[in-house]
Amino acid sequence: MNADERRWLTGFEQKSEEGVVCCDAVEKGTEYLKTMRRLALESDMIALSEDIVERIRICSWIGKNIEPVNAELGEYLQACHSCFYPEQRKKIQIFAAPLAQKLGVDAFCNLKVEPVAILIDAGRLHRPDWLSVVAHEYAHAHLGTAGHQGQFLATIQHLCLGLGLEPPYTEGMEAKQQEIWLQNWPHCPPVADPLAFWRGGANA
Ligand SMILES: [Zn+2]
Repeated sequence: MNADERRWLTGFEQKSEEGVVCCDAVEKGTEYLKTMRRLALESDMIALSEDIVERIRICSWIGKNIEPVNAELGEYLQACHSCFYPEQRKKIQIFAAPLAQKLGVDAFCNLKVEPVAILIDAGRLHRPDWLSVVAHEYAHAHLGTAGHQGQFLATIQHLCLGLGLEPPYTEGMEAKQQEIWLQNWPHCPPVADPLAFWRGGANA
């Protein structure tokens, strides 16, 4: 938290009891995002708006609401695990976090941390698509690779069948075309305003 944020918050804190609760939530949300930056491939992959009021609002929302969101993602992770025998399962952690808009991705898997970390921008997805994106990243985490070639196809097919998702249809496709197709499988339409979720708005 920088000096400006602290000043803004201190002013707010003196105003009301509610403000104090809010400050605790902001601190908690800020700490959470710091942890997410450590789990990201590059720390600037986790990013919020430049607008300080918006950042505080989002940190406060995260501080108050991130646990049930992560619990839901954890259930989807368990559903993916259940598609494999216990001895085949890799150690994987999963979290929701707002990803920098410039990345243009909904989620990613950091294979360089232990356990492997899946970070999902829940705000960039419609809620019914969360399982699909968890399954995609799980396939990377399970294989320990970032590519979308043959092994990935077999794994995502297996997961889709196990989870009741539509399996990828790649018959007759050239290798390169198949890879591009699989990069976005299962297909998930984007949401109009990814930060709305993190502000406590739509879909949250
Ligand atoms: Zn992928």
